[in-house]
Amino acid sequence: MLSNTQIAELLAQEAERETGILSRAFRRAARSAFLWPEEVSDLVRQNRTLTELRSIGPFIEKQVREWIDDPPSHTKTVAAVRKDFISLAEARRVLATRVSWPKKLRGDLQMHTCWSDGSDTIAEMADAAKNRAYDYIAITDHSKTLKIAGGIDERALKRQATEIAKVNTALSKSGAQLTVLRSIELNLNTRGEGDMSPESLQQLDVVLGSFHSALRTTEDQTERYLAALRNPYVHILGHPRGRIYNFRIGLTADWQRIFAEAARLDKALEIDCYPDRQDLNVALLKLARDHATRISIGTDAHHAWQLEFVDLGLAAALHAGITADRILNFMPGLELKTWARRLRVGKAKKA
Ligand SMILES: [Zn+2]
Repeated sequence: MLSNTQIAELLAQEAERETGILSRAFRRAARSAFLWPEEVSDLVRQNRTLTELRSIGPFIEKQVREWIDDPPSHTKTVAAVRKDFISLAEARRVLATRVSWPKKLRGDLQMHTCWSDGSDTIAEMADAAKNRAYDYIAITDHSKTLKIAGGIDERALKRQATEIAKVNTALSKSGAQLTVLRSIELNLNTRGEGDMSPESLQQLDVVLGSFHSALRTTEDQTERYLAALRNPYVHILGHPRGRIYNFRIGLTADWQRIFAEAARLDKALEIDCYPDRQDLNVALLKLARDHATRISIGTDAHHAWQLEFVDLGLAAALHAGITADRILNFMPGLELKTWARRLRVGKAKKA
């Protein structure tokens, strides 16, 4: 029986054989397959239409049904740029077998709002998080040099603090348990340096640092990661590999050294749950587990509904055998803040 992940691969391969509009439709459907809430094979068995699924029209439906009736053998050869991605249908099936695991989740540590390239306001993101019964969310809009994503400067970040304070006041008045944390997705250069003043970063509850440039180099990038981890303002390294489904394979590095150094510094690496990213992936998470490296889970949501991507990260962590005590988002909010503060004042383990 074909899984959605296998159907995604067939769609992606079909996109490579086709050209123009058809190629784009197959490519789009391949990407969407990771978000389909149910296995297509189940829908077929239940005599349901496939066009209820995102990016499936009548033409693609016909093709997918043919594959399900008679699965092609080449599904097994997955291109490297599409390897090790989990579908939402699969993630939910995995999580349903361990209901205690997703229940440990207290919050989401990466999301964007209309302050940078997200679509929704802080209040709207908070509302969605409240519906998920979270204790906290971190607002991680892009920092100033990532102009393409509407990065914000120190002055805007300060204005954002006022808005977050207002949202938090309203939340506590309404009796909600949710707190909005101040954060940022700090744009790091290849030397691991950020682009915001230390004074502005010191005001934040937690800082996520990510690379957004020179992501296609094939040379070993270990030094870049070590430098980023040693940056005193960075708590969490966001979407570490920089991979994107069917687009970019991500950076190469000596991950053993990186996880060991992160563990020594008591810093975290992220599982970016965005379906196209899923970064760290399961293979690397298994290495992180062996080094007892802290892991942060962030959806990288750009719309409030995308908070549901968290299931992909929860399933990946579970699958890799990460222990609950290594996951930042399983900590109570106060403990999380204390951890971040302790790193900032330099009391973390030193060499
Ligand atoms: Zn990013």
